[in-house]
Amino acid sequence: MGDSTTSTTAAGQAPRPQETKKATVAPTRWADLEDEAPEESSASSTSEAKAALELDVENLAIDENKKINKFLDEPEDSNIKAVTSGDTPYTSAFTFEELKLSPELLKGLYVEMKFEKPSKIQAISLPMILNPPFMDLIAQAHNGSGKTTCFTLGMLSRVDPNIKAPQALCICPTRELAIQNLEVLGKMGKYTGITSECAIPMDSTNHIPINKRPPVTAQVVIGTPGTIKKWMSAKKLSVIHVKILVFDEADHMLAEDGFKDDSLRIMRDIERMSSHCQVLLFSATFNETVKNFVSKIVKRDHNQLFVKKEELSLESVKQYKVNVPDELSKVMVIKERIFEFGERLGQTIIFVRTRNSASTLHKSLVELGYDVTTIQGALKQEDRDKIVKEFKDGLTQVLISTDLLARGFDQQQVNLVINYDLPVKHDNRTEPDCEVYLHRIGRAGRFGRKGAVFNLLCGDMDQMIMSKIENHFGTKVAEVHDWRNEEDFKAALKAAGLL
Ligand code: ADP
Ligand code: MG
Repeated sequence: MGDSTTSTTAAGQAPRPQETKKATVAPTRWADLEDEAPEESSASSTSEAKAALELDVENLAIDENKKINKFLDEPEDSNIKAVTSGDTPYTSAFTFEELKLSPELLKGLYVEMKFEKPSKIQAISLPMILNPPFMDLIAQAHNGSGKTTCFTLGMLSRVDPNIKAPQALCICPTRELAIQNLEVLGKMGKYTGITSECAIPMDSTNHIPINKRPPVTAQVVIGTPGTIKKWMSAKKLSVIHVKILVFDEADHMLAEDGFKDDSLRIMRDIERMSSHCQVLLFSATFNETVKNFVSKIVKRDHNQLFVKKEELSLESVKQYKVNVPDELSKVMVIKERIFEFGERLGQTIIFVRTRNSASTLHKSLVELGYDVTTIQGALKQEDRDKIVKEFKDGLTQVLISTDLLARGFDQQQVNLVINYDLPVKHDNRTEPDCEVYLHRIGRAGRFGRKGAVFNLLCGDMDQMIMSKIENHFGTKVAEVHDWRNEEDFKAALKAAGLL
């Protein structure tokens, strides 16, 4: 359908005229329907790091009766609730040293990652993850709060360097997220010598049929469910030694309209082969249905960390709505009101609902002389990888994306998100997809950085959907008064701390 999206790649700061290059479109021929339902993220803030220092260690002791412990009483910090289980006394870490990580991992954290101290979710969850009896964990924490580090350290700490076989598995909803997580693992684990491999559909240029591939010997495997399942059934990925299984964006991985069947099958196969495998489920969002379901599929004794939905929006990211009279005005707002501040803003992601919409907006912006790239699931794997890499390297400034990148995508320089189309449910376009909304806006404001979101609304339906989103999160999204007035946008960006 909208499969003729062109992609312009170019270096540069703010959008600038550029040459466009036609990206060929490949049919969806891989098992992971990654592009149709994207994912994740929510934030923590610099206050997270501070919060780690302020953690009330006493309150982290486990409650035998599985009572809900409120960890933190500070207004900002009161939003993670935990249900702990078993009889291991947990204390929370204030420093990475206290986690008794290996010197190689500490070096990775300080030298490669340049982290100083654990964020709140890290301080709370790592003692649960790293210590016997290695209980299962369902953990929810804000977008951008550092969940990746929690499960990456979990995986790296559990691997026995002497066993040259897969021992840790991480499953993600998109190839982009699998690649990103593998990169983080490689960097954090640089001094450990632990090997890793990405299990994602191969690009067309170096495709090797599965039966011609040697079995996987990497100690950590990170990938998408379709490929992991395929490698397992082809007996190329042995799970006998797997002792830790991670689901990133776990709510989506276990949702009916997500990857539930694949995820469950992988989980069951591993449980059959490997006697005690720790399961970690991480996401910024867990709706009630998924929450109930995941609590049932993990072992009876498990730990949980949850955040109320009303407390999931990021304080550091200012949300705005802009009413425009028609679709064309949306393009004008982007061009004349927002991109006007071009060089002074960081990187921008514009979210659209469909591949068609991506393609149309891309063309309009390119015609107006802007330098943008577009990513969506119908592009060839190698084009997707290239577009993401260029954006991550800062070679491109503005990225148009379907919900493919809504979850998990981490680029600290992104401080502006534009919802060109509001996120709606696939099966009912009059209902907002509040989880996707939260994940989209969480692409800005990573780890407490400042950010702004503009929701472009056209017509009654959009307004109704926006107000449902506001009700869901119990927030009021500020309105940019006049879409024609540059000063209003300037004031909004100023209030968000971006100008
Ligand atoms: P999420 O919780 O959304 O998965 P990520 O794990 O992607 O968040 O982390 C968001 C950003 O915060 C990343 O760029 C990561 O490098 C950074 N980060 C994570 N933990 C720390 C820390 N302890 N100190 C400083 N930065 C951190
Ligand atoms: Mg994440």
